[in-house]
Amino acid sequence: GNNNDGVDGATILVRALKQQGVEYMFGIVGVPVIEVGMAAQAEGIKFIAMRNEQAASYAASAIGYLTRKPAVCLVVSGPGLVHALAGMSNAMENCWPLIVVGGSCDQDQEAMGGFQEYSQVEAARQYSKFSARPSSIDKIPYFIEKAYRTSTYGRPGPCYIDMSGDMIMGKVQEEKVRYLPPCPPPPAVFADPDKIKDAIDLITYAEKPLVIVGKGAAYAQAEDEIYSLVVDTKLPFLPTPMGKGVLPDTHELCVSAARSRALQEADLIILLGARLNWMLHFGAPPRFNPKVKIIQVDISLEEMGNNVMPAIALPGDITSVVKQLNEELHRRPGQFKFNQKAPWWNTLKGKIEANQKNVQAMSQDVTVPMNYYAAYSEVQSAIPQNSLIVNEGSNTMDIGRTMLPNLLPRHRLDAGTFGTMGVGLGFALAAAIWCRDYQPNKRVVCVEGDSAFGFSGMEIETMARYRLPVIIVIFNNNGITFGLKDEMWENAEQSGDLLLTVPPTALQPNTRYEKLIEAFGGKGYFARTKSELKKSMEAAVRDTKNASIINVMIDPMSQRKTQEFFWLTKSNL
Ligand code: ADP
Repeated sequence: GNNNDGVDGATILVRALKQQGVEYMFGIVGVPVIEVGMAAQAEGIKFIAMRNEQAASYAASAIGYLTRKPAVCLVVSGPGLVHALAGMSNAMENCWPLIVVGGSCDQDQEAMGGFQEYSQVEAARQYSKFSARPSSIDKIPYFIEKAYRTSTYGRPGPCYIDMSGDMIMGKVQEEKVRYLPPCPPPPAVFADPDKIKDAIDLITYAEKPLVIVGKGAAYAQAEDEIYSLVVDTKLPFLPTPMGKGVLPDTHELCVSAARSRALQEADLIILLGARLNWMLHFGAPPRFNPKVKIIQVDISLEEMGNNVMPAIALPGDITSVVKQLNEELHRRPGQFKFNQKAPWWNTLKGKIEANQKNVQAMSQDVTVPMNYYAAYSEVQSAIPQNSLIVNEGSNTMDIGRTMLPNLLPRHRLDAGTFGTMGVGLGFALAAAIWCRDYQPNKRVVCVEGDSAFGFSGMEIETMARYRLPVIIVIFNNNGITFGLKDEMWENAEQSGDLLLTVPPTALQPNTRYEKLIEAFGGKGYFARTKSELKKSMEAAVRDTKNASIINVMIDPMSQRKTQEFFWLTKSNL
């Protein structure tokens, strides 16, 4: 705090964060950051004390994605920071803003084997756009402003600020501290107007155009501009997993259910905030038309031409560039070669309908234990349509993408670009706090595979402590991708050393995960049939006070429906 001998580093740090607009700090306190956590609350920064830095770093990064304003993850020295590298690398891969603040051993113990001494600035550098220790206590606000700005400008990403114990406790005279004004939101970046015209020419003459909407578009909050581009021109669109909801999944122009065909045949792709990485098969044949032309919109110039050289590169922020495209479209209301009478639209429509029939048949299957589709159809019909969905697991996530439609932008959080398992509980916690503060009455539904849940399951205590009524649904198939049926388990037990006979994919069968939440005052449900699941879901939705767990038994051998191509499966093992 403040007194005659001056103001301490912890207080300067949190004041600087507050001035930049930081609202939430997630973390775990200990030596030397206890004072930082306390100072944060004293300055009105909400502190969420979690159970593992890994989950805390995921949670903080989710706030950055949902709001475009980075949250802070506060960690202790050494191992505390090492755990948070998980969230930093995940945020880096997802292009999400995040500020990690790590306590570190006193500077006069450095190189002496100090308590939890570790080369933290160096360790964090690979996962940060900016990683530094303030050069002096009075300059802390300068470093915080730079971290905030670097994290949100250009391609967003994490930044790291190192605070040695002596800087946290050390004091300077108040007048010596120069606070900086809040960093404004990133300036608008527009594309070359001539290239905008060229892009509209390509759109006008394309026979098989396709708009791909990525999570960069969701992050950019470009939903209104993209809506008018797609709807005015009647262009088919395909969301990536977290691009879902920028335009409603239920829109007639959404071709998610004909994804493979749309990618394979499109002759023009308008790529809005999505990278041609593994998730989009590198933009390469046979998954893509070898002659496809790409109009690439991205804030990062370095991204242009990664794997496929775009026909037209439109660097800039999506909101500004799509606005430019819309203005040019309105200047010359022309005839587009593509329309909904075009043969390609018929092909896509046909695929969509066939796919929907397939899914419907599997959804209605009443076999016990349930298949994923049968279970998901009950989850989907019980939850409010505006729910924020968190989803991870292997089959659980792949099928969840299809079965849980998103009608609103930034309402799906999943394993993302890095394919990270274990993000779910942290994401759900952050989402529930954000909903509590900005979207009251909206529910967070966290659908986890049983393995995915295990990574950070103890965060249910954090949810209970802060009274966050997250609905956690565990799709329990006794393992990773598939588990053992009861008789197979008996076999494994009888045929020798369990360490040699239990497959690495198997988890303890029939685990009653729902009982865990009861230790913290929440309600648990066990569902083996569609009707049990329906009742449990409805009860959990009615409970607006506590977190719930619905443990859903899934056939250990149940898989995704057969795919023309295998998609997004490599990542999840
Ligand atoms: P997805 O996983 O949905 O395919 P990616 O994470 O691969 O999406 O791609 C997101 C892209 O969006 C990144 O290349 C990033 O640079 C870009 N991006 C982020 N914010 C903006 C923005 N405001 N304007 C334009 N592009 C952005």
